[in-house]
Amino acid sequence: MTATRSLDYWRAQAQRLQPRHQAFIDGRYVDACSARRFECLSPVDGRRLAQVARCDHQDVELAVRAARRAFDRGVWSEMPPVARKRVLIRLAQSIEAHAEELALLETLDMGKPIHDSLNVDLAATVRCFAWNGEVIDKWYAEIAPTGPNELGLITREPLGVVAAIVPWNFPLLMAAWKLAPALATGNSVILKPSEKSPLTALRLAELALEAGLPEGVLNVLPGYGEEAGEPLAAHLDVDGLVFTGSTAVGKHLMGIAGTSNMKRAFMECGGKSPNIVFPDAPNLETAAEAAASGVFYNQGEVCTAASRLLVHRDIREEFLERVVAAGRRMQPGDPLDPATRMGAIVDRAQFERVSAYIERGREEGARLRSGGSQCRRDSGGYYLEPTVFEGVSPQMTIAQEEIFGPVLACIEFEQDEEALALANDSPYGLAAAVWTSDITRAHKMARKLRAGSVWVNYYDGGDMTAPFGGFKQSGNGRDKSIHALEKYTEIKATWINLDP
Ligand code: NAD
Repeated sequence: MTATRSLDYWRAQAQRLQPRHQAFIDGRYVDACSARRFECLSPVDGRRLAQVARCDHQDVELAVRAARRAFDRGVWSEMPPVARKRVLIRLAQSIEAHAEELALLETLDMGKPIHDSLNVDLAATVRCFAWNGEVIDKWYAEIAPTGPNELGLITREPLGVVAAIVPWNFPLLMAAWKLAPALATGNSVILKPSEKSPLTALRLAELALEAGLPEGVLNVLPGYGEEAGEPLAAHLDVDGLVFTGSTAVGKHLMGIAGTSNMKRAFMECGGKSPNIVFPDAPNLETAAEAAASGVFYNQGEVCTAASRLLVHRDIREEFLERVVAAGRRMQPGDPLDPATRMGAIVDRAQFERVSAYIERGREEGARLRSGGSQCRRDSGGYYLEPTVFEGVSPQMTIAQEEIFGPVLACIEFEQDEEALALANDSPYGLAAAVWTSDITRAHKMARKLRAGSVWVNYYDGGDMTAPFGGFKQSGNGRDKSIHALEKYTEIKATWINLDP
């Protein structure tokens, strides 16, 4: 999807943009019932992008009713899978046709480089809708191994009304990971994007309608977590709640799901992923590049960020030197410049949060090896240097907590068992990586790492074909692959007496 556009081109396009700013309910853009709005500011340069509808429980009520009506009418839920497939593939094609516009919205709204919005977020979003469309008329039901006088059918049915609450770090892609399987399986959905990045979700709603999704099947409610997210999570007519975001909010929402109507609840949450480098890594330069991009990519605002580097004592100094050099090559630039590989932190609050962690690292005795400061101050946005701490001990705050910014904590080890114990010493279990040429060591480590994704000799690999999600407090349930379809469906056993 690479476009050979110049910085001037993107700047000119940015001036022309008129983002959708109203909620999308029952196939129409509408103001919030309260008529309130919130400011949507760009972290790129502080400009105001829009004043967005600030939805609350009243809008939730309207959206749930619309979603329920659409579901009960069967206009989507009872459509043959092959017909739903056509709509989802048309939507994928439409997203691809509007990729530049959506990528620009994403970059302006949350600060990531336009290069990444286009080539990663948009490309993967297109693939996600297409993949889920393609799979849905190939997903067979089962027949139980019964005796000759009865027939046991094991079928899957959509949950009904699904609420999807998503974060700001990959706004469109995280929405796609929920929407595509939820829609493919016939549900009606209410999407609540993050208040920090609502714009692409609002535009997507209209593209979905144009692609043939019936009115009411997809509703988008922008707004704050407590005001719009919580009433959705608590609603008695919502059958499923799927969430991507922080572990703290995920735990809170599981409680609400449980005490309201026991809606099916699946949480994809935070991480503090270990990246383990042995001296026999196939190529130390490649490993160092990956260690840097693993934590600095997307300004470090990635759930799988390789934020804990566990490096063997014998190569520590040489390896760190390479990581620091690779980090320097990723200095933040103007996100609209196609050459930029690191952009702006999403907003002032997140910038201050990450800066406080850097300060905490210093106070607790970690040595700042590079970075640690604000840069591009004149831009009006929020930019942080790629930051590397060495001499980190496992108990330090920067080794334990998810920072969600461009901050690397380096911890050294000597023995394999020690590396494993350090890697698993975390409440999180989202991802982990091992770099070694020893196949036995690689397999043993991979087997014992308590993480939902393990990479050997690379970082952040994966596509739609494999499930993605976490062990421990990184969440339950999985996004992507056929496994994701399961959480949007109830399983039903139907018994037929063949000898009545
Ligand atoms: P967050 O938990 O603050 O917010 C996520 C969403 O929940 C937002 O839409 C927010 O408005 C909403 N929300 C907040 N409080 C709520 C409440 N009380 N009730 C209902 N909704 C509420 O997370 P964030 O800062 O947007 O995103 C960063 C987090 O997301 C990180 O922890 C990151 O690791 C995680 N993440 C996980 C994955 C994954 O697949 N596991 C992917 C991306 C991001």
